[in-house]
Amino acid sequence: MAAYKRVLLKLSGEALMGDDSYGINRATIERMVSEVAEVAALGIELAIVIGGGNIFRGVAPGATGMDRATADYMGMMATVMNALALQDAFRRAGVTARVQSALNIEQVVEPYIRPKAIRYLEEGKVVIFAAGTGNPFFTTDTAAALRGSEIGAEIVLKATKVDGIYSADPNKNPDATRYERISFNEAIAKNLEVMDATAFALCRDQKLPIRVFSINKPGALYRAVTGDNEGTLVHM
Ligand code: UDP
Repeated sequence: MAAYKRVLLKLSGEALMGDDSYGINRATIERMVSEVAEVAALGIELAIVIGGGNIFRGVAPGATGMDRATADYMGMMATVMNALALQDAFRRAGVTARVQSALNIEQVVEPYIRPKAIRYLEEGKVVIFAAGTGNPFFTTDTAAALRGSEIGAEIVLKATKVDGIYSADPNKNPDATRYERISFNEAIAKNLEVMDATAFALCRDQKLPIRVFSINKPGALYRAVTGDNEGTLVHM
């Protein structure tokens, strides 16, 4: 049973990288697409904000000494590449997906137009939001919070490398425990890094819950949208 009608899925660029150290891993992107297709088949409207960290980040070592805004625009362009790869993988899987970009690159992708994005969702198409917020000094997490709020998503699903939010870094501290649920206020008080601060504040203000779960756990996305206790839920 689907617990939601409309969700915003945030996929980091690393989600497409698999075990590679750079770029897009074919098998990984195909697995992602089949997991998303399974959820879409439940009738859940799905919008995706895709990151770019597998190709370029404004704060990456490779950008050292660069003008930050220029580097960030490069990062946003990286998300456009990922979005196109994702759209094409959806096409091959028989799922219709549309890319909308926060930066105008008309020959390549259509621009972000909110009512059009909502119409695509109502038509059962997967919508991929590219180029983040369109502004330097932001992240695609913030784009996820922003677009999620704009389209009236009921939840932001943040797929990460860790299977939820822990009391401490589970890679460094063997005693770290995973929260099943945590409130926005508690997460702030405990200084837990769920998303970057701007994204987190926007979700909190818009009363938009966040579920953090692992990208590498097969079936995790399905369980996250069918209401099972997957990963960690951040609630009001
Ligand atoms: N970026 C930006 N504005 C945005 C979103 C992204 O400038 O609204 C740039 C920024 O340089 C960032 C890069 O794009 O480092 C890739 O995005 P992000 O780091 O969020 O990708 P992820 O970590 O999710 O792969």
